[in-house]
Amino acid sequence: MKHYPRSLSNLIGSFAKLPGVGKKTAERLALHILRAPHHEAEQLAGNIMELKQRMQLCSRCFALSENNVCTICSDPIRNNGKVCVVENPSDMAAIEKSAAFDGVYHILQGIFSPMDNVGPEDIRLHELFTRIKNEKITEIIFALNTTIEGDATATYIINHLKNYDIKLTQIASGVPVGGDLKYIDPVTLRRAMETRLDTK
Ligand code: ZN
Repeated sequence: MKHYPRSLSNLIGSFAKLPGVGKKTAERLALHILRAPHHEAEQLAGNIMELKQRMQLCSRCFALSENNVCTICSDPIRNNGKVCVVENPSDMAAIEKSAAFDGVYHILQGIFSPMDNVGPEDIRLHELFTRIKNEKITEIIFALNTTIEGDATATYIINHLKNYDIKLTQIASGVPVGGDLKYIDPVTLRRAMETRLDTK
């Protein structure tokens, strides 16, 4: 974008880094902001900065949170004995949208991926095992994506829990192999949660 002044081409460059935004869209977005009223641009910049400053991970379940403990973990109505294990915050959001689960979560913040050198030490597994040791957990529900990596991660956790008296289940039918939870409609996901299967 050499034909634009520096500040404009910088903004185009920033937009072009966003997922799913090509160069043309980045240009359109930047020109839109240039034309937009001052307060709109200020609000956008402010929202981005506020997100970066306020957002942290819940110290218990690693969900996105604006406080040390997230709203789900601090909700007295949730069943703390049931822990749903998911890969990332968007999977958790998909399950919450389905309104099928009254327990709490553990967000691994990743799954095993030998290609990217992601192993047990790189995701929030240690923290999960600590919770299992310290909290009164009666059921762990696996809601990991049905990929080889998701399965390998679940198997690792299951092997680790052999000596615990904890029910281990997996969300069931309707979740396609290789399917990404966040793209599954809430009704299907709700059914999958309600008809979960024992893993052993
Ligand atoms: Zn939490």
